[in-house]
Amino acid sequence: YSYYNENTIIYLDGEFLKAASAQKDLYGQSLHYGYAVFEGLRAYKTAKGEVKIFKAKEHFDRLKRSCELIHIPYPFNNEELIAATYKMLEMNGMEEGYIRPLVFCPPNMTLKAATESNIMICAWEWGAYLGEKLLRVATSSYQRPNPKAFKIESKSAGLYVNSILASQEAKQKGYDEALLLDMNGNVAEGPGANIFFEKDGKIFTPPPGHILPGITRATVIELCHELGIPLEEKFFTIDELKQAESVFYCGTAAEVVGWDSLDGQGFSKPWASSLGKVLQQAYQARVLETEFKREAQLA
Ligand code: PMP
Repeated sequence: YSYYNENTIIYLDGEFLKAASAQKDLYGQSLHYGYAVFEGLRAYKTAKGEVKIFKAKEHFDRLKRSCELIHIPYPFNNEELIAATYKMLEMNGMEEGYIRPLVFCPPNMTLKAATESNIMICAWEWGAYLGEKLLRVATSSYQRPNPKAFKIESKSAGLYVNSILASQEAKQKGYDEALLLDMNGNVAEGPGANIFFEKDGKIFTPPPGHILPGITRATVIELCHELGIPLEEKFFTIDELKQAESVFYCGTAAEVVGWDSLDGQGFSKPWASSLGKVLQQAYQARVLETEFKREAQLA
């Protein structure tokens, strides 16, 4: 996959420049120690024809908080960054796509917290990250990191080696994606997405504590409230998940994507008649700023 070409413009520390001409510093603390923070956002062309970055403020606020949690300086103004992101999309002629801000640290081979940082923002066209098909998911042999070993609510680069290992293991076994448990053996999340399941007319998801509390997760919770779908945050095991009627992952890149099976075992409800499907359609309506009527969907 090509993320940029000779014409692609990125934003770097207050300036717009060609991705191909950006300098790479091989002595960066971020590169050597995984000491960087990133975000993932999506821009959509709304029903009215406007280019809108979904929940831009929430994502840039999380970027700031992620940096603060791991002591990376954040001398940036989020309103300016959001305006710069829109400008960058326009300069690249992009009306929709995936946006990746990255805060990284200059050369420093010590293990001291950074005193300076840089920010770059780039974007590329990206379809549904996990595809459109229902996912065949495998329970991972890898756990999510112990919250006492890391600031797990910080979307930090280093944490993603755990995600890569889990994802690679699942794919190597012939599955589409992994599901990771937490250190206590409860279900946590996917390598890059949060999990929800349906049982007896209700939706369940793990509470914060061992997961990245996703912005898509928050949107799905809002949609449940708006649509009158009962929702509960609670810890649950793999055995309980295997009794679910339907299951889905959600995240900015993946959006809402249903599961086919877990470790080869399917679920009792067809995805097409699940609450997950209702929420998937409601999510699409939300990002495209169109109206969603549940009654019409169920008819
Ligand atoms: N969990 C992990 C580990 C992730 O990487 C992501 C993607 N950022 C999510 C959950 C979903 O977060 P969001 O909805 O904010 O994209």
